[in-house]
Amino acid sequence: MDHSPRSPYSYGHVPQPIRKSDGAGGVDLGPRDIMRDKENPNMFVPPVTDSGLLPNMKFSFSDAHMQLNQGGWSREITVRDLPIATTLAGVNMKLTAGGVRELHWHQQAEWAYMLLGKARITSVDQAGRNFIADVCEGDLWYFPAGIPHSIQGLEGGCEFLLVFDDGSFSDLNTLSISDWFAHTPKEVLSANFGVPENAFNDIPPGQVYIFQDEVPGSLESQRVQSPYGTVPLSFTHHLLAQPPIKTPGGNVRIVDSSNFPISKTVAAALVEIEPGGMRELHWHPNNDEWQYYLAGQGRMTVFAGNGVARTFDYRAGDVGYVPFAFGHYIQNTGDQSLWFLEMFKSDRFVDVSLNQWMALTPRELVADNLHVGGELLNALRKEKWPVVRYPGYTYLPE
Ligand code: MN
Ligand code: MN
Repeated sequence: MDHSPRSPYSYGHVPQPIRKSDGAGGVDLGPRDIMRDKENPNMFVPPVTDSGLLPNMKFSFSDAHMQLNQGGWSREITVRDLPIATTLAGVNMKLTAGGVRELHWHQQAEWAYMLLGKARITSVDQAGRNFIADVCEGDLWYFPAGIPHSIQGLEGGCEFLLVFDDGSFSDLNTLSISDWFAHTPKEVLSANFGVPENAFNDIPPGQVYIFQDEVPGSLESQRVQSPYGTVPLSFTHHLLAQPPIKTPGGNVRIVDSSNFPISKTVAAALVEIEPGGMRELHWHPNNDEWQYYLAGQGRMTVFAGNGVARTFDYRAGDVGYVPFAFGHYIQNTGDQSLWFLEMFKSDRFVDVSLNQWMALTPRELVADNLHVGGELLNALRKEKWPVVRYPGYTYLPE
Protein backbone atom coordinates (compact mmCIF):
# COMPACT_ATOMS: atom_id res chain seq x y z
CA MET A 1 0.00 0.00 0.00
CA ASP A 2 1.24 3.45 -0.89
CA HIS A 3 1.33 5.65 2.18
CA SER A 4 3.20 8.52 0.57
CA PRO A 5 1.35 11.75 1.32
CA ARG A 6 0.23 13.91 -1.61
CA SER A 7 -0.55 16.72 0.79
CA PRO A 8 0.01 17.15 4.51
CA TYR A 9 -3.76 16.91 5.06
CA SER A 10 -4.70 13.73 3.23
CA TYR A 11 -3.15 10.54 1.91
CA GLY A 12 -4.56 10.42 -1.58
CA HIS A 13 -8.31 10.68 -1.07
CA VAL A 14 -8.13 9.62 2.57
CA PRO A 15 -8.96 12.56 4.86
CA GLN A 16 -6.72 13.15 7.86
CA PRO A 17 -7.57 14.75 11.21
CA ILE A 18 -5.45 17.82 10.64
CA ARG A 19 -6.93 21.32 10.66
CA LYS A 20 -5.62 23.44 7.80
CA SER A 21 -6.10 26.80 9.54
CA ASP A 22 -3.74 26.04 12.44
CA GLY A 23 -2.11 22.68 11.66
CA ALA A 24 -3.58 21.06 14.79
CA GLY A 25 -3.98 17.29 14.76
CA GLY A 26 -1.97 14.52 13.11
CA VAL A 27 -2.15 11.72 10.57
CA ASP A 28 -4.33 8.73 11.48
CA LEU A 29 -2.84 5.46 10.21
CA GLY A 30 -4.70 3.31 12.75
CA PRO A 31 -8.04 1.52 12.68
CA ARG A 32 -10.76 3.74 11.29
CA ASP A 33 -13.90 3.80 9.16
CA ILE A 34 -12.85 6.07 6.31
CA MET A 35 -16.35 6.19 4.76
CA ARG A 36 -17.77 7.56 8.01
CA ASP A 37 -14.89 9.99 8.45
CA LYS A 38 -15.65 11.30 4.94
CA GLU A 39 -19.34 11.65 5.81
CA ASN A 40 -18.49 13.69 8.92
CA PRO A 41 -15.86 16.22 7.81
CA ASN A 42 -16.87 18.76 10.49
CA MET A 43 -16.74 16.17 13.27
CA PHE A 44 -13.45 14.73 11.95
CA VAL A 45 -11.84 18.16 11.65
CA PRO A 46 -14.04 20.43 13.78
CA PRO A 47 -14.14 24.19 13.25
CA VAL A 48 -11.70 25.90 15.63
CA THR A 49 -14.73 27.56 17.26
CA ASP A 50 -16.01 24.18 18.56
CA SER A 51 -15.43 23.80 22.28
CA GLY A 52 -16.64 22.11 25.44
CA LEU A 53 -18.99 19.26 26.23
CA LEU A 54 -22.24 18.75 24.36
CA PRO A 55 -24.11 15.45 24.12
CA ASN A 56 -24.57 13.71 20.78
CA MET A 57 -27.13 15.50 18.54
CA LYS A 58 -27.19 13.06 15.62
CA PHE A 59 -28.41 9.59 14.83
CA SER A 60 -28.84 8.02 11.41
CA PHE A 61 -31.72 5.74 10.48
CA SER A 62 -28.96 3.70 8.79
CA ASP A 63 -27.75 2.81 12.32
CA ALA A 64 -31.24 1.76 13.47
CA HIS A 65 -32.64 -1.78 13.65
CA MET A 66 -34.84 -2.72 10.68
CA GLN A 67 -38.10 -4.47 11.55
CA LEU A 68 -38.92 -6.56 8.46
CA ASN A 69 -42.45 -7.87 7.88
CA GLN A 70 -44.49 -9.26 5.00
CA GLY A 71 -46.00 -6.00 3.75
CA GLY A 72 -43.27 -3.58 4.75
CA TRP A 73 -40.61 -2.51 7.21
CA SER A 74 -39.97 0.04 9.91
CA ARG A 75 -37.06 1.46 11.86
CA GLU A 76 -37.14 3.99 14.65
CA ILE A 77 -35.00 6.57 16.44
CA THR A 78 -36.12 7.08 20.03
CA VAL A 79 -34.53 8.21 23.29
CA ARG A 80 -32.95 4.73 23.43
CA ASP A 81 -30.87 5.61 20.35
CA LEU A 82 -30.46 9.38 20.80
CA PRO A 83 -30.72 10.03 24.57
CA ILE A 84 -30.95 13.84 24.26
CA ALA A 85 -34.14 13.51 22.17
CA THR A 86 -36.75 13.35 24.93
CA THR A 87 -39.55 15.38 23.31
CA LEU A 88 -40.15 13.51 20.04
CA ALA A 89 -39.42 10.07 18.55
CA GLY A 90 -39.38 9.13 14.86
CA VAL A 91 -40.23 6.08 12.79
CA ASN A 92 -39.33 5.55 9.12
CA MET A 93 -41.80 3.09 7.57
CA LYS A 94 -42.36 1.37 4.23
CA LEU A 95 -45.62 -0.26 3.22
CA THR A 96 -45.76 -2.30 0.03
CA ALA A 97 -48.71 -2.03 -2.38
CA GLY A 98 -51.52 -3.38 -0.19
CA GLY A 99 -49.27 -3.61 2.91
CA VAL A 100 -51.11 -2.61 6.11
CA ARG A 101 -49.94 -1.04 9.37
CA GLU A 102 -52.69 -2.73 11.36
CA LEU A 103 -55.55 -1.11 13.30
CA HIS A 104 -53.95 0.28 16.47
CA TRP A 105 -53.69 3.24 18.83
CA HIS A 106 -51.17 4.63 21.32
CA GLN A 107 -50.72 7.02 24.21
CA GLN A 108 -48.85 9.52 22.01
CA ALA A 109 -50.06 11.73 19.16
CA GLU A 110 -48.81 10.71 15.68
CA TRP A 111 -47.66 13.26 13.08
CA ALA A 112 -46.56 11.96 9.68
CA TYR A 113 -44.91 13.19 6.50
CA MET A 114 -45.33 11.21 3.28
CA LEU A 115 -41.91 10.74 1.65
CA LEU A 116 -42.84 8.63 -1.38
CA GLY A 117 -45.88 6.99 -2.92
CA LYS A 118 -49.47 6.82 -1.75
CA ALA A 119 -51.32 5.47 1.26
CA ARG A 120 -54.86 5.27 2.62
CA ILE A 121 -55.41 6.18 6.25
CA THR A 122 -58.48 5.53 8.40
CA SER A 123 -59.56 6.63 11.87
CA VAL A 124 -62.59 6.91 14.16
CA ASP A 125 -62.79 9.40 17.03
CA GLN A 126 -64.35 9.14 20.50
CA ALA A 127 -67.70 10.47 19.19
CA GLY A 128 -67.97 7.83 16.44
CA ARG A 129 -67.05 10.31 13.71
CA ASN A 130 -64.90 8.59 11.12
CA PHE A 131 -62.15 9.60 8.71
CA ILE A 132 -60.67 8.09 5.56
CA ALA A 133 -58.28 9.74 3.12
CA ASP A 134 -55.63 8.97 0.52
CA VAL A 135 -52.32 10.76 1.08
CA CYS A 136 -49.41 11.23 -1.30
CA GLU A 137 -45.89 12.68 -1.33
CA GLY A 138 -45.65 15.90 0.69
CA ASP A 139 -48.88 15.30 2.62
CA LEU A 140 -49.14 15.15 6.43
CA TRP A 141 -51.44 13.39 8.80
CA TYR A 142 -52.01 13.79 12.53
CA PHE A 143 -53.79 11.38 14.85
CA PRO A 144 -54.42 12.73 18.38
CA ALA A 145 -53.19 10.59 21.28
CA GLY A 146 -55.43 7.60 21.94
CA ILE A 147 -57.34 7.84 18.64
CA PRO A 148 -57.34 4.53 16.68
CA HIS A 149 -56.11 4.41 13.08
CA SER A 150 -54.60 2.37 10.23
CA ILE A 151 -52.35 2.96 7.23
CA GLN A 152 -52.31 0.97 3.98
CA GLY A 153 -49.96 1.26 1.00
CA LEU A 154 -51.72 1.87 -2.32
CA GLU A 155 -50.54 0.99 -5.86
CA GLY A 156 -46.73 1.31 -5.92
CA GLY A 157 -46.41 1.27 -2.13
CA CYS A 158 -45.22 4.14 0.03
CA GLU A 159 -42.63 5.35 2.53
CA PHE A 160 -43.22 7.88 5.28
CA LEU A 161 -41.83 9.44 8.45
CA LEU A 162 -43.86 9.16 11.66
CA VAL A 163 -43.15 11.51 14.57
CA PHE A 164 -44.54 10.94 18.08
CA ASP A 165 -44.77 13.54 20.84
CA ASP A 166 -42.74 11.50 23.35
CA GLY A 167 -39.07 10.54 22.92
CA SER A 168 -39.70 7.26 24.81
CA PHE A 169 -42.27 6.06 22.27
CA SER A 170 -41.71 2.82 20.36
CA ASP A 171 -43.82 1.77 17.39
CA LEU A 172 -43.21 -1.82 18.48
CA ASN A 173 -45.00 -1.03 21.75
CA THR A 174 -48.42 0.24 20.68
CA LEU A 175 -51.95 -1.03 21.39
CA SER A 176 -53.00 -3.25 18.47
CA ILE A 177 -56.38 -4.74 17.68
CA SER A 178 -54.85 -8.20 16.96
CA ASP A 179 -52.89 -8.13 20.24
CA TRP A 180 -56.03 -7.28 22.24
CA PHE A 181 -58.08 -10.01 20.56
CA ALA A 182 -55.28 -12.55 21.19
CA HIS A 183 -55.17 -11.67 24.89
CA THR A 184 -58.90 -11.59 25.62
CA PRO A 185 -60.74 -14.81 26.68
CA LYS A 186 -62.79 -16.14 23.75
CA GLU A 187 -65.95 -16.22 25.88
CA VAL A 188 -65.46 -12.51 26.56
CA LEU A 189 -65.07 -11.78 22.81
CA SER A 190 -68.22 -13.87 22.27
CA ALA A 191 -70.15 -11.95 24.97
CA ASN A 192 -68.89 -8.60 23.68
CA PHE A 193 -69.92 -9.05 20.06
CA GLY A 194 -72.89 -11.44 20.50
CA VAL A 195 -71.49 -14.15 18.23
CA PRO A 196 -70.39 -17.75 18.94
CA GLU A 197 -66.81 -18.36 20.17
CA ASN A 198 -66.00 -20.22 16.97
CA ALA A 199 -66.25 -16.88 15.12
CA PHE A 200 -62.80 -16.26 16.62
CA ASN A 201 -61.21 -19.58 15.66
CA ASP A 202 -58.80 -18.01 13.17
CA ILE A 203 -57.75 -14.77 14.88
CA PRO A 204 -54.00 -14.04 14.87
CA PRO A 205 -52.17 -15.52 17.89
CA GLY A 206 -50.53 -12.16 18.72
CA GLN A 207 -49.74 -8.68 17.44
CA VAL A 208 -49.70 -8.55 13.62
CA TYR A 209 -48.06 -5.08 13.34
CA ILE A 210 -47.67 -5.02 9.52
CA PHE A 211 -49.25 -7.51 7.09
CA GLN A 212 -49.58 -7.97 3.33
CA ASP A 213 -53.08 -7.44 1.94
CA GLU A 214 -54.59 -6.70 -1.46
CA VAL A 215 -54.51 -3.12 -2.77
CA PRO A 216 -57.90 -1.75 -1.70
CA GLY A 217 -60.57 -0.43 -4.08
CA SER A 218 -61.36 3.25 -4.55
CA LEU A 219 -61.77 5.62 -1.64
CA GLU A 220 -65.52 5.87 -2.37
CA SER A 221 -65.90 2.09 -2.37
CA GLN A 222 -64.39 1.91 1.13
CA ARG A 223 -66.18 4.85 2.71
CA VAL A 224 -68.31 3.87 5.73
CA GLN A 225 -71.26 6.15 6.55
CA SER A 226 -71.26 7.10 10.23
CA PRO A 227 -74.53 8.27 11.83
CA TYR A 228 -72.32 10.81 13.64
CA GLY A 229 -70.62 12.12 10.50
CA THR A 230 -66.93 12.66 9.86
CA VAL A 231 -64.28 14.16 12.18
CA PRO A 232 -64.72 17.97 12.50
CA LEU A 233 -61.01 18.77 11.98
CA SER A 234 -59.25 17.06 9.07
CA PHE A 235 -56.48 14.64 10.02
CA THR A 236 -54.54 15.50 6.82
CA HIS A 237 -52.78 18.54 5.38
CA HIS A 238 -51.11 19.09 2.01
CA LEU A 239 -47.82 20.60 3.22
CA LEU A 240 -45.86 20.50 -0.04
CA ALA A 241 -48.81 22.13 -1.83
CA GLN A 242 -48.67 25.05 0.63
CA PRO A 243 -47.03 28.21 -0.81
CA PRO A 244 -43.59 28.57 0.83
CA ILE A 245 -41.92 31.62 2.37
CA LYS A 246 -39.23 32.31 -0.23
CA THR A 247 -35.96 34.11 0.43
CA PRO A 248 -32.63 34.19 -1.42
CA GLY A 249 -31.11 30.74 -0.81
CA GLY A 250 -34.23 28.73 -0.14
CA ASN A 251 -37.75 28.47 1.20
CA VAL A 252 -39.74 27.35 4.23
CA ARG A 253 -43.21 25.91 4.73
CA ILE A 254 -44.50 26.21 8.29
CA VAL A 255 -47.28 24.00 9.60
CA ASP A 256 -48.77 24.10 13.10
CA SER A 257 -52.18 24.37 14.75
CA SER A 258 -52.75 27.76 13.06
CA ASN A 259 -53.07 26.18 9.59
CA PHE A 260 -53.50 22.48 10.52
CA PRO A 261 -55.82 22.86 13.53
CA ILE A 262 -55.86 19.22 14.68
CA SER A 263 -52.05 19.26 15.13
CA LYS A 264 -52.12 20.53 18.72
CA THR A 265 -48.88 18.94 19.94
CA VAL A 266 -46.57 18.97 16.90
CA ALA A 267 -45.39 21.99 14.89
CA ALA A 268 -43.03 21.77 11.93
CA ALA A 269 -41.19 23.59 9.18
CA LEU A 270 -40.19 21.99 5.89
CA VAL A 271 -37.02 23.77 4.76
CA GLU A 272 -35.22 23.78 1.41
CA ILE A 273 -31.70 25.24 1.46
CA GLU A 274 -30.22 25.68 -1.99
CA PRO A 275 -26.49 25.10 -2.62
CA GLY A 276 -24.56 27.96 -1.03
CA GLY A 277 -27.44 28.83 1.29
CA MET A 278 -28.02 28.38 5.00
CA ARG A 279 -30.80 28.37 7.58
CA GLU A 280 -29.81 31.54 9.43
CA LEU A 281 -28.49 31.72 13.01
CA HIS A 282 -31.58 31.43 15.25
CA TRP A 283 -33.16 29.65 18.20
CA HIS A 284 -36.61 28.56 19.30
CA PRO A 285 -38.23 30.04 22.43
CA ASN A 286 -40.72 27.20 22.92
CA ASN A 287 -39.15 23.73 22.86
CA ASP A 288 -36.42 21.37 21.62
CA GLU A 289 -36.05 20.86 17.85
CA TRP A 290 -36.12 17.38 16.29
CA GLN A 291 -34.85 17.29 12.71
CA TYR A 292 -35.20 14.84 9.86
CA TYR A 293 -33.01 15.25 6.78
CA LEU A 294 -34.79 14.33 3.54
CA ALA A 295 -32.19 15.14 0.85
CA GLY A 296 -28.73 16.59 0.43
CA GLN A 297 -26.13 17.27 3.10
CA GLY A 298 -25.36 20.00 5.60
CA ARG A 299 -23.69 20.94 8.83
CA MET A 300 -25.06 22.43 12.04
CA THR A 301 -23.27 23.93 15.01
CA VAL A 302 -25.24 23.88 18.26
CA PHE A 303 -24.32 26.68 20.70
CA ALA A 304 -25.14 25.91 24.33
CA GLY A 305 -23.72 28.96 26.12
CA ASN A 306 -20.73 29.05 28.49
CA GLY A 307 -18.31 28.58 25.60
CA VAL A 308 -19.87 25.29 24.50
CA ALA A 309 -20.46 24.66 20.79
CA ARG A 310 -20.25 21.51 18.68
CA THR A 311 -20.61 20.92 14.96
CA PHE A 312 -22.33 17.92 13.36
CA ASP A 313 -22.68 16.79 9.74
CA TYR A 314 -26.03 15.56 8.44
CA ARG A 315 -27.28 13.90 5.29
CA ALA A 316 -30.48 12.32 3.98
CA GLY A 317 -31.84 9.80 6.49
CA ASP A 318 -30.28 11.44 9.57
CA VAL A 319 -32.04 12.79 12.64
CA GLY A 320 -30.65 15.90 14.34
CA TYR A 321 -31.57 17.53 17.62
CA VAL A 322 -31.28 20.96 19.25
CA PRO A 323 -32.17 21.47 22.94
CA PHE A 324 -34.62 24.24 23.89
CA ALA A 325 -33.30 27.77 23.15
CA PHE A 326 -29.80 26.65 22.03
CA GLY A 327 -28.48 28.71 19.09
CA HIS A 328 -27.91 27.01 15.74
CA TYR A 329 -27.69 27.34 11.94
CA ILE A 330 -27.87 24.72 9.18
CA GLN A 331 -25.61 25.24 6.20
CA ASN A 332 -25.83 23.38 2.90
CA THR A 333 -22.42 21.71 2.37
CA GLY A 334 -23.31 19.93 -0.86
CA ASP A 335 -24.05 20.70 -4.49
CA GLN A 336 -27.78 19.88 -4.40
CA SER A 337 -30.66 21.26 -2.34
CA LEU A 338 -30.71 20.31 1.33
CA TRP A 339 -34.24 19.47 2.49
CA PHE A 340 -35.09 18.89 6.12
CA LEU A 341 -37.93 19.04 8.64
CA GLU A 342 -37.67 21.04 11.88
CA MET A 343 -40.17 19.65 14.39
CA PHE A 344 -41.32 20.73 17.82
CA LYS A 345 -43.54 19.33 20.52
CA SER A 346 -45.72 22.44 20.49
CA ASP A 347 -48.95 23.85 19.08
CA ARG A 348 -46.97 26.52 17.21
CA PHE A 349 -43.80 27.08 15.24
CA VAL A 350 -41.71 29.97 16.62
CA ASP A 351 -38.14 31.09 16.18
CA VAL A 352 -35.98 34.08 17.09
CA SER A 353 -33.70 35.43 14.38
CA LEU A 354 -30.26 36.67 15.52
CA ASN A 355 -30.17 39.10 12.57
CA GLN A 356 -33.65 40.51 13.24
CA TRP A 357 -32.99 40.84 16.99
CA MET A 358 -29.86 42.87 16.29
CA ALA A 359 -31.61 44.99 13.61
CA LEU A 360 -34.37 45.96 16.06
CA THR A 361 -31.98 46.83 18.93
CA PRO A 362 -30.36 50.28 19.37
CA ARG A 363 -27.35 50.52 17.00
CA GLU A 364 -24.93 51.90 19.61
CA LEU A 365 -25.76 49.09 21.98
CA VAL A 366 -25.03 46.42 19.36
CA ALA A 367 -21.90 48.26 18.17
CA ASP A 368 -20.46 48.63 21.67
CA ASN A 369 -21.42 45.13 22.76
CA LEU A 370 -19.80 43.39 19.78
CA HIS A 371 -17.18 45.96 18.71
CA VAL A 372 -18.62 46.07 15.21
CA GLY A 373 -19.01 48.95 12.79
CA GLY A 374 -21.29 50.30 10.13
CA GLU A 375 -20.57 47.57 7.61
CA LEU A 376 -22.37 44.98 9.74
CA LEU A 377 -24.91 47.35 11.32
CA ASN A 378 -26.06 48.60 7.90
CA ALA A 379 -26.45 45.03 6.63
CA LEU A 380 -28.83 43.98 9.43
CA ARG A 381 -32.38 43.24 8.31
CA LYS A 382 -35.58 44.00 10.22
CA GLU A 383 -37.52 41.36 8.29
CA LYS A 384 -36.96 37.72 9.13
CA TRP A 385 -35.30 35.60 6.43
CA PRO A 386 -35.27 31.98 7.61
CA VAL A 387 -32.87 30.99 4.81
CA VAL A 388 -30.10 33.25 3.50
CA ARG A 389 -27.53 33.23 0.71
CA TYR A 390 -25.11 36.04 -0.07
CA PRO A 391 -23.09 35.71 -3.29
CA GLY A 392 -19.41 35.80 -2.37
CA TYR A 393 -20.08 34.68 1.22
CA THR A 394 -21.19 31.10 0.66
CA TYR A 395 -19.71 27.93 2.12
CA LEU A 396 -17.81 26.09 -0.57
CA PRO A 397 -17.25 22.36 0.04
CA GLU A 398 -13.78 21.06 -0.85
MN1 MN B 1 -49.88 4.86 14.90
MN1 MN C 1 -34.11 25.66 14.23
